[in-house]
Amino acid sequence: MKIQLETKDIIIFESSLYRTTSTLIDTENTLFLVDPNYLPLELEFIQQKVKERRGSKKLVLLITHADYDHIIGVNAFDYDALITTETFLTKRDIEKALYDLEAFEQSFYIHRDFELSYPVPTNLIKKNNQEFLFNSISVHGFLAPGHTIDSGFFIIKPLNILIAGDYLIDIEIPMIDDNLKDYKNTLDLFENLIENEDFSLVISGHGDYAKSKETVLKRIALDKEYLKLLEENVYQKQPFDLEFLKNFPNPIEMKAIHLRNVKNLVR
Ligand SMILES: [Zn+2]
Repeated sequence: MKIQLETKDIIIFESSLYRTTSTLIDTENTLFLVDPNYLPLELEFIQQKVKERRGSKKLVLLITHADYDHIIGVNAFDYDALITTETFLTKRDIEKALYDLEAFEQSFYIHRDFELSYPVPTNLIKKNNQEFLFNSISVHGFLAPGHTIDSGFFIIKPLNILIAGDYLIDIEIPMIDDNLKDYKNTLDLFENLIENEDFSLVISGHGDYAKSKETVLKRIALDKEYLKLLEENVYQKQPFDLEFLKNFPNPIEMKAIHLRNVKNLVR
């Protein structure tokens, strides 16, 4: 499995599917594992790395949202706590999330040696900047609807790592499965944080992690440019310039995502 980054504090794994990332943060008493995914051999690889580093440390799963690619690996790990948003339980259509998961698995005839189920959280993010303490490490949870209604993100202190979920992605246009207004508010929240704090790493759910403020601010600017084109396309009936999608490495798939966004905005 591809590893984007491996140090004593962190491993960023990258799946061959959609370049989805899983992040392992290794601290004195606790391992934090974010959205472990996807293919069976890839999950075995991550399990091995967790085993090597675990010892007597607690394992805490951080789940950014209930899309199938982010919840698939939960049952492959024997964890002590699982943190996600309250909306993951209260607002997300759980039946549909499970159906989407099963449908994706079946479309590739994927066989697992563990059961698939909807994750059961132990701790819920109910408001922005909610703090969860694990010895000297604090996890700050945020609510980030827009991509999905249950999306959230995390800041791990004092390492100052921002785990963005499916936002701030360098290889993808914004995917608006929830709603545009919330998406824009969430982007503003990220912009504010990025401008005012110094993160050592910003890790997105897909594609490359970022180290500099400038890189992330550029991604936000491109996201905003797309949202403007999307709005003009949907609300003012202006033609959408497909050339814009060549800013991303998979323009054919970006077109499909764009058309889905259009559909979601007019529904
Ligand atoms: Zn995703």
